[in-house]
Amino acid sequence: MHCLNCGTPDTKVIDSRPITDGLTIRRRRKCDACLKRFTTYEKFEIQMPVVVKNDGRREGYNREKILDGITKACQKRQIPMSEIDKFIESIEKYIVENFDVELSSNQIGELVMQRLALLDPVAYVRFASFYWNYNDIDGFIQGLKHNVPLTDQLSL
Ligand SMILES: [Zn+2]
Repeated sequence: MHCLNCGTPDTKVIDSRPITDGLTIRRRRKCDACLKRFTTYEKFEIQMPVVVKNDGRREGYNREKILDGITKACQKRQIPMSEIDKFIESIEKYIVENFDVELSSNQIGELVMQRLALLDPVAYVRFASFYWNYNDIDGFIQGLKHNVPLTDQLSL
């Protein structure tokens, strides 16, 4: 890391300690050129694998997209947002632990379905019926946007 004072490209770390949240490291640095000291905070960030779509294109993992699909499948099911958040977190945790570099959008769809079946059967059927039609999570969301409300299609 370069010096904030004189711009020298290299600074020395003289002290490192984790902050209470366990995800941030506070570092004291010293510049050998101008002798200024300063502090940096470095945050760990979990790297999600790349998502390979059905057509072979790759894109970054997109939490919003999954959230969008799940909230729509859970419509009127009285599932608190905090539950849905936890639900997505558990999927992300599984992805991070089991896939290093990439996974397919189908694999994400499968993971969502398996877990949704346990969370709420109606949301599961909604998600699954669209998912199988479009065979892809993008298609699922597109399908929801362009079709009549799910409640009219499924007599549940
Ligand atoms: Zn300096």
